[in-house]
Amino acid sequence: MRDKLVEKLIKGEEKRQAEGLELIPSENYVSEDVLRANGSVFTNKYSEGYPGRRYYGGQDFTDQVERLAIERICKLFKCKFANVQPHSGAPANLAVYAALLVPGDTVLGLDLSHGGHLTHGHPMTLPAKIYKFVTYKMKNPDTGEIDYEDMRKVALETKPKLIIAGFSAYSRTLDYKKFVEIAHEVGAITMADMAHIAGLIAAGELRNPFDDGFDVITSTTHKTLRGPRGGIILTRESEEIAKKIDKSIFPGIQGGPHMHTIAAKAVAFGEAMTPKYKKYARQVLKNAKAMEGVLRKNKIRMIGGGTDNHLILADVFGSLGVTGKEAQTVLDEVGITLNMNSIAGDTRKPLDPSGIRFGTPAITTRGFKGKECKLVAELLIETLKNKDNKKMKESIHKEIKTLAKKFPIPKKFV
Ligand SMILES: *Cc1c(COP(=O)(O)O)cnc(C)c1O
Repeated sequence: MRDKLVEKLIKGEEKRQAEGLELIPSENYVSEDVLRANGSVFTNKYSEGYPGRRYYGGQDFTDQVERLAIERICKLFKCKFANVQPHSGAPANLAVYAALLVPGDTVLGLDLSHGGHLTHGHPMTLPAKIYKFVTYKMKNPDTGEIDYEDMRKVALETKPKLIIAGFSAYSRTLDYKKFVEIAHEVGAITMADMAHIAGLIAAGELRNPFDDGFDVITSTTHKTLRGPRGGIILTRESEEIAKKIDKSIFPGIQGGPHMHTIAAKAVAFGEAMTPKYKKYARQVLKNAKAMEGVLRKNKIRMIGGGTDNHLILADVFGSLGVTGKEAQTVLDEVGITLNMNSIAGDTRKPLDPSGIRFGTPAITTRGFKGKECKLVAELLIETLKNKDNKKMKESIHKEIKTLAKKFPIPKKFV
């Protein structure tokens, strides 16, 4: 690369990724093929509109690649319609709100402190300024069970137009049927924001909300799906909803689609259709269970009491007296990247909460199995217990580096 400054930064990031262990549950590594498509000449092309109805000429290949992405993702999720143009997860959600609601309408979503996402109604977001968000919660943070009775009560009282299932810091299984039942009772549309677990659903390892009658699924493509940074909106069967969503993305909130990203999405969706990918998804779940076992043995409190998916939310302040921020910082020092996270009923502030959140999607892509995941969980706990012991931390860092070297980030899709 001619630009030595940027080249140096890319090399630095490559090294950082290669030497550390990535436990942030929303991150992953794409294959060389996804990277190649994402860096392709499709980035030069304007394609406002949809395949067969564009506002610019020269669409022979863009039309084909977007159709391919749509066809593949519809097959993976067993649905009729897909919009593969959302630039990311947040705009995908905004587009659904704009498509199906009018300003002032009510939306029911999971409380942020119980695992929901910012885009499900945090007061700082644009959607929260336009629509009225009400929330449901867990009945008991130690089992993770959602309070469906209260959800129904809130729904009957507030008459939401849209009910959202989905989370970014929740580790248990949602009962999608209950959501649909409540939605039918109050005449709401159902949307599942599957950003975190889309890949596990695509692989058939976790339940598909469409099988229980959900109307719409939104997702990112870069988390467990192992694609480029991006978003998607899927519609189970309603052409009316799908048409509104298409208009809402373009010209509603976006201009030209990023065709290079759509090409990379098509590649990732193709990879997600293979038996190798199914095996990967299964291993992600097994690996999370392996880590759960180590935490339980060490009596570290997990929100939800454990995990059914790829992530664990641990109350490190309550269990070890280490704050979330301290944990994040000290783990960074030994080469483990994860994030601090508020927990349900947290008495601490969001910038230094009681919890940490971590997961297995990225290390599983690297080839980690149960044995290595147990070791990582043990090293993680050991680091927290010895957070002021410099010698100990140095030795753990060495061990992490050796482990990372032994499992290089794969270039080919495996
Ligand atoms: C990650 C995430 C998003 C947002 O995706 P971005 O690509 O960061 O905009 C939305 N919803 C949920 C549940 C998420 O986990």
